[in-house]
Amino acid sequence: MLKDKWGQLMRFLRNDIGIDLGTSNMLVYVRGKGIILNEPSVVAVNQKTGQVVAVGTEAKNMLGRTPPHIVAVRPIVDGVISDFEVTEEMLHYLLNKAQAISKKFLGPRVVVGVPSSITNVETRAVRDATKNAGASEVHIVEEPMAAAIGMHLPINEPLGSMVIDIGGGTTDIAIISLNGVISSKNIHVAGDKLNSDISAYIRNEFKIVIGEKTSENIKTQITSLLAEKTSFETQARGRDLITGLPREVVVTDSDIREAISHSIERLIEATKEVLEMTPPEILSDIMHRGIYLAGGGALIKGFADILKEEVKMPVYIADDPLTCVVRGTGIILEHLEKYKEVLIANEEDVSNKAH
Ligand code: ADP
Ligand code: MG
Repeated sequence: MLKDKWGQLMRFLRNDIGIDLGTSNMLVYVRGKGIILNEPSVVAVNQKTGQVVAVGTEAKNMLGRTPPHIVAVRPIVDGVISDFEVTEEMLHYLLNKAQAISKKFLGPRVVVGVPSSITNVETRAVRDATKNAGASEVHIVEEPMAAAIGMHLPINEPLGSMVIDIGGGTTDIAIISLNGVISSKNIHVAGDKLNSDISAYIRNEFKIVIGEKTSENIKTQITSLLAEKTSFETQARGRDLITGLPREVVVTDSDIREAISHSIERLIEATKEVLEMTPPEILSDIMHRGIYLAGGGALIKGFADILKEEVKMPVYIADDPLTCVVRGTGIILEHLEKYKEVLIANEEDVSNKAH
């Protein structure tokens, strides 16, 4: 009773904030308000002064339209926190937006989801950066765990659940039971790699160079891993390799299937490898309960079908796969006691994390 009252008082005094620091997108959840921010994880930096000029959507819109000394940085490239100061500025920006929406007296309590590939030093850097940005209490959770919680998988039970989170820089494949990761793999084959596969293919086949944004648009518009009766096509505009002038070509879904086939195979291979290192009891749970896909890559048309065919078990796409992690951090905030074992909560845990 007293504990309830204390909880209510603290909620009145401080915000509970969940953050997904994705390699492509960062999202913020505020308890009682829902997801209040969803922007690209991009920061524009003035190289002459070292100052951050813009963060998020504003920074992404500047891409390719700035003088040479202003560069866009993705601080969490390939799941690695590459630049501490920039990460801190980014967290400042996120916390300020959250605090502006819901004003509170004390510094917020924050749960941050980080890529599972991040090292101890980087985990500590994220915690310090979040503290410096004004948080009164910081908890760190690995993204595949947060994604599983966001999908309401029964991770507290002695029962195997399998999650594949296909993001921008990395794909996390994890099998979880009783609050712990039983077996996992993190590979650098995800959305960004598919984009570069597509631009390399178009360069080779059509002899034009296309930009990152164009290859991403092609990917999200016409990718379909299963050949369907009706084919899809789109125009791609780029620079002719020989003349240097703009040229437009028509790209079809069959081009894209070919362009990304190797990466798709690697995703499937990695999934099989994780299954192979899983103990039989847990494996039998997964056979029954299936595999859950999260992250933007879960939306690749036909991927769930192909994977199901390959591993001979059910494969499900999460509802709203791009928001699973941040919704997971929200659920953790609401039930911190229940989920305390999944958090990387103190210095000891950080230094015990094997790498
Ligand atoms: P991260 O967690 O690493 O920030 P996200 O889960 O936000 O990544 O996913 C971003 C990736 O998902 C990007 O590479 C984006 O191109 C890709 N993506 C988003 N929507 C689709 C779609 N409909 N089809 C294929 N890929 C998509
Ligand atoms: Mg993610």
